Amino acid sequence: MIKIRNLQKQFGSTHVLRGISCDIAANEVVCIIGPSGSGKSTFLRCMNALEEMSGGEITVNGFNVHDPKTDLNQLRQSVGMVFQRFNLFPHMTVLENLILAPMDVKKLSKAEAIKNAELLLRKVGLLDKIDAYPSQLSGGQQQRVAIARALAMEPKVMLFDEPTSALDPELVGEVLAVMKSLAHEGMTMVVVTHEMGFARDVADRVIFIDQGVIQEEDVPEKLFTAPANERTQAFLSKIL
Ligand code: ADP
Ligand code: MG
Repeated sequence: MIKIRNLQKQFGSTHVLRGISCDIAANEVVCIIGPSGSGKSTFLRCMNALEEMSGGEITVNGFNVHDPKTDLNQLRQSVGMVFQRFNLFPHMTVLENLILAPMDVKKLSKAEAIKNAELLLRKVGLLDKIDAYPSQLSGGQQQRVAIARALAMEPKVMLFDEPTSALDPELVGEVLAVMKSLAHEGMTMVVVTHEMGFARDVADRVIFIDQGVIQEEDVPEKLFTAPANERTQAFLSKIL
């Protein structure tokens, strides 16, 4: 589903990503961990071309992101993204947030878009909030709506960038539960997170990024209990 070869990213003289290569299979759930500033967000953003790469190759769902001829709008339609901040349109109701892009971009009829939105809201447990405005929801509820909104485009891959970092601790669990059920349904997911419990339970693989490269990647059982790399050991000893 995702193939990355020697990905490079520089911001001016700052060389943030220094040759990242990895493959992510369909239905796989990969968690990305690493210190603040190590390039995790930049890495995700390169995958759906929100950030222009400086070198290397990325193929996502058959789209060559590195190819200037690729239709980036089409690429982004098949890649859902959920950010740390919920990014809902504040002046629109939950329903309006969910039907906008499917009608605009996928050309669904309003009736079809509403039907899908209702299914998705039921899935994230928020059907009763369908007419609420984002400001009337808790952070956890807003983030669940943001996930539903991304799913409304029927993406092949979902990218999550620290989706629970901005939440009060008591609201983290409800968002992780939605992500967990999505993983169990077979969604291909790349999740930047500091939630090591989630990574342990849900990830097929954990990638540790530091100093612009993948320092280590492994199944969570191994990476968390017996990391081989010194940097991984040092990072985990600070957060576990
Ligand atoms: P992480 O998500 O792991 O915390 P980021 O990908 O956000 O790290 O950032 C990696 C590095 O790239 C940081 O040093 C950051 O300051 C730098 N960086 C990120 N975005 C930009 C930008 N738009 N312009 C300049 N530097 C940036
Ligand atoms: Mg980040």
